[in-house]
Amino acid sequence: MTGSIQVIGVQGLPLIHAGDDVAALVCERLPVNDGDILCIASTIYSKSKGYTKSLAAITPTERAVRLGKLNGEDPRFVQAVLDASTDIIMEHPFILSELSFGHIGVRAGVDQSNIEDGMVIFLPPEPMKAADDVRKRIKEISGKDVGVIITDTCGRSFRRGQTGNAIGWSGMTAIRDFRGDTDLFGHVLKITEEAVVDEIAGFSNFVMGESNNGVPAVVFRNCPSWTGHDNLYFSGEEDITRRVLKKEWS
Ligand code: GDP
Ligand code: MN
Ligand code: MN
Repeated sequence: MTGSIQVIGVQGLPLIHAGDDVAALVCERLPVNDGDILCIASTIYSKSKGYTKSLAAITPTERAVRLGKLNGEDPRFVQAVLDASTDIIMEHPFILSELSFGHIGVRAGVDQSNIEDGMVIFLPPEPMKAADDVRKRIKEISGKDVGVIITDTCGRSFRRGQTGNAIGWSGMTAIRDFRGDTDLFGHVLKITEEAVVDEIAGFSNFVMGESNNGVPAVVFRNCPSWTGHDNLYFSGEEDITRRVLKKEWS
């Protein structure tokens, strides 16, 4: 685990629209190397696949109208959030919900920024496949083996401030598993599993910025590799916070 890691924001990408080939647009601007890790903002992946909707095309249900009033939000936006969710964990002061792929997020990760007025962007419905598709496409275009992480900016519990999270990944495991390793004093580690994909997504988010930076893709070069597993999301049983919140809100 030595060497210096290079972090490169991909400059000069255009505004992304449905039908755009994100992998090709990135490769045209930054020649990738074997072993690179490419982080892509879910926003542009979703725009390229048309996972967007016009608020004008949404008819809110009674629940969306109620929650819109409760939280001071457009009921059509609330409906989009409900549609993207498989389970509502908290209704107020904001909707916290679970998505089909296991992610739990504020407003189901539905965004109204970095798209035209009156439009919403959904998270990719199958982000693991999304990361895999981008990875395969890059291999096809460049012949290079890269890892891909689809990211989103997410709020978190206990601390102020949003950070980048991994929503989908391919070419790596989500978690670096330290269990069974010995520390500097010979103690066997029993608990430590490091969510490496989230750490990388977090730093990529710093390079991307949130507003008008126009950098939705970031390459990490010379990262050491790691081994572990992909069980990033707690099961319902394991997730104590979720269980407590559900008790409170259901
Ligand atoms: P999210 O974190 O996936 O929700 O994405 P953000 O809306 O925070 O955008 C992340 C970065 O990508 C910011 O630097 C945005 O300015 C940039 N961005 C978003 N959409 C586009 C786009 O269509 N083209 C380009 N070039 N940059 C974009
Ligand atoms: Mn987002
Ligand atoms: Mn963001």
